[in-house]
Amino acid sequence: MTARLRPDLDALPGYVPGKSLRGAIKLASNEVAAGPLPGVTDAITAAATETHRYPDSGATVLTETLATRLGVPAAQVAVGCGSVSVCQQLVQATCVGADDEVLFAWRSFEAYPVITQVAGAWPRTVPLLEQTHDLPAMLAAVGPTTRLVFICNPNNPTGTALGADELTDFLDKVPSQVLVVLDEAYTEFTDDTVPDGMDLARGRDNVVVLRTFSKAWGLAGLRVGYAVAAEPVVAALRKVYLPFSVNHVAQAAALASLEAEDEMRKRCAAIVAERGRVLGALRELGHDVPPSQANFVWLPLGERAAEFTQHCAERKIVVRGFAGDGVRVTVGEPAENDAFLDVAGTFEL
Ligand SMILES: *Cc1c(COP(=O)(O)O)cnc(C)c1O
Repeated sequence: MTARLRPDLDALPGYVPGKSLRGAIKLASNEVAAGPLPGVTDAITAAATETHRYPDSGATVLTETLATRLGVPAAQVAVGCGSVSVCQQLVQATCVGADDEVLFAWRSFEAYPVITQVAGAWPRTVPLLEQTHDLPAMLAAVGPTTRLVFICNPNNPTGTALGADELTDFLDKVPSQVLVVLDEAYTEFTDDTVPDGMDLARGRDNVVVLRTFSKAWGLAGLRVGYAVAAEPVVAALRKVYLPFSVNHVAQAAALASLEAEDEMRKRCAAIVAERGRVLGALRELGHDVPPSQANFVWLPLGERAAEFTQHCAERKIVVRGFAGDGVRVTVGEPAENDAFLDVAGTFEL
């Protein structure tokens, strides 16, 4: 007889990671292709001599360094094992059961529904409007059982971003007991039309800014993310933190990455330039690509999304398809983008 497991897990959508195909160009997971930033592999090598010791569970130096850079007290910064882990901690810190709702747009980051349901909370979704968050509809969906709202800005997978005015209006109107998370995984790729969540959060104790080292900073494989929030929120996040989950090597690599910020900015500028080129070329092919503020573009192919994804895979380009909806394509190195555009050009629209 098999052990008794939670019956609701059967209905749970599993997280689908970007696929890897041997010898293929991988444009499926929004990684930065250039590798770890300068100095980071040396820091990792040095940290490797200490792996017989438990890591600093409070990630003290990293937390203090981030706090100083962001101009907040260290008691307002909580690191986690990737920002996905911080998302999960946020749900655990606000919800106790299925009567507690987590609100987010759909389609948005695939981890939101999974972590919400694993935590036993109720996911409530509001459809995107023209590939963008529909903030008035989201505000209308906030009710007495809403505990947490995720706003992904720019949105994964559509790349679209909200401006300061509409976000400020939303934050002004949302009840102050509802925690609002601004997930800014792609903030380093945005232009100045996209507000910095740190500015929006100032003076609002119910707003959390979520950041990650996985994308622009090139550390997806080491799992470091963090939240900036009011002190009671951070204290709650630390209570639900899985002890030691941000490991020693990851802490050292994150610190070394911060030292290489100039190089990170250069890489992001190159990716943003490529994004413009890829977007223009796709529109020329007839795709209705929304403007992107992230390191990927979105092809709203609807019923043909799976077919396009397959077309690319057969030609050794791995993109991220969402069947029945669209395809997300990471902006890679120029040669990778050229290869993708060639393949996209052979797809009959
Ligand atoms: C990639 C991504 C993250 C980062 O997740 P990590 O766990 O830090 O690797 C968070 N939020 C969104 C919307 C993302 O696309």
